[in-house]
Amino acid sequence: MPAKIHNFGGGPAKLPEEVYDIIKNELTNFGGTEISLLETSHRSQTYMRLNTDVQNVVRRLLDVPDNYKILFLAGGGTGQFAAVPLNLISRTGTADYVVTGDWSAKAAKEAKKYGNVNLVLPARDGYTNIPNQSEWKLDPNASYVYICTNETIHGVEFDFVPDTKGVPLVADMSSNIMSKKVDVSKYGVIYAGAQKNIGTAGVALVIVREDLLGHALPICPSILDWAPNAKADSILNTPPMFAIYVMGRVLEWVERNGGVQGMSEKAAKKASLVYDIIEKSNGFYYAPVAKSDRSKMNVPFRIGNPGNDALEKEFLKGAEALGLIQLKGHRSVGGIRASLYNAVTVAEVETLAKYMNDFQNKHSK
Ligand SMILES: *Cc1c(COP(=O)(O)O)cnc(C)c1O
Repeated sequence: MPAKIHNFGGGPAKLPEEVYDIIKNELTNFGGTEISLLETSHRSQTYMRLNTDVQNVVRRLLDVPDNYKILFLAGGGTGQFAAVPLNLISRTGTADYVVTGDWSAKAAKEAKKYGNVNLVLPARDGYTNIPNQSEWKLDPNASYVYICTNETIHGVEFDFVPDTKGVPLVADMSSNIMSKKVDVSKYGVIYAGAQKNIGTAGVALVIVREDLLGHALPICPSILDWAPNAKADSILNTPPMFAIYVMGRVLEWVERNGGVQGMSEKAAKKASLVYDIIEKSNGFYYAPVAKSDRSKMNVPFRIGNPGNDALEKEFLKGAEALGLIQLKGHRSVGGIRASLYNAVTVAEVETLAKYMNDFQNKHSK
């Protein structure tokens, strides 16, 4: 085995090493209580204080305005695929979905169970760009407009906030939250499953504007209804306490490391290390996504176009031998994907870049 592992997995993804040290230290004695958080009551002062602390760090990092609630809900990102229509579609019975990759496609499919879904973009082969807003067919009657700001599988990322003419904008930020500045006031709802960029599986962070609470469809399960969860301060039932705790420790680490601004500078540096090699490879490496829409968090690429499966297999094998792991592209698209979330260091990406260079030198004629 190589001495050191560099984890480029798409999710659950790498956590900062420093956070592991903190978790290890606190695991069996949380905050001086001499018991683990794992066996602490969710109604205890200890947990309620933690719950408030984690909300506060989210509020500070994203500068969340006072008229937004911060919720920690079970069910991950997929739970919110259902929660969004269940909470919001009642106003007009219809919603706009901007499908830019598999994750927004899944969300649109889920929403169809609860109302009319207007697909804002025409059906396309593959997802390699974000069409200009002038090509979008928004329905003025929509209850909300739904986007996924970073498509984890296809590596397509929004670099603008769409103008929805006052219709609430809902954004799945599961794979790029806390990697760049966000003007929360431009969104009705922001949510993120934690296991990509801010923690571990089992919890979704939901940031919702207060006026959007209290309109859930009567069939909405209480556990997915944002209003009672907000009223109960995310302690409606036993929450995924440990996942919320890990998220808090990760976010405190973000804060100690330059906050969202610091993360965004690091993200730009890491992404350009990989994309530059692809660009300068004379077609040896191929990134399918349009340059202006390339994700800084997930870099999918092929060796050759169309991809050479045998060479990609060799690339992945050689990478693993050096400790560069979980670089395989998502099973739905194949190829290679380097996920460069906040916890991945610049030095690790330099190691990957060097390997990409060496591999090309060995294999190009
Ligand atoms: C991973 C992911 C999801 C699904 O998250 P789960 O917690 O597994 O349900 C949703 N949206 C995006 C953008 C993702 O990357």
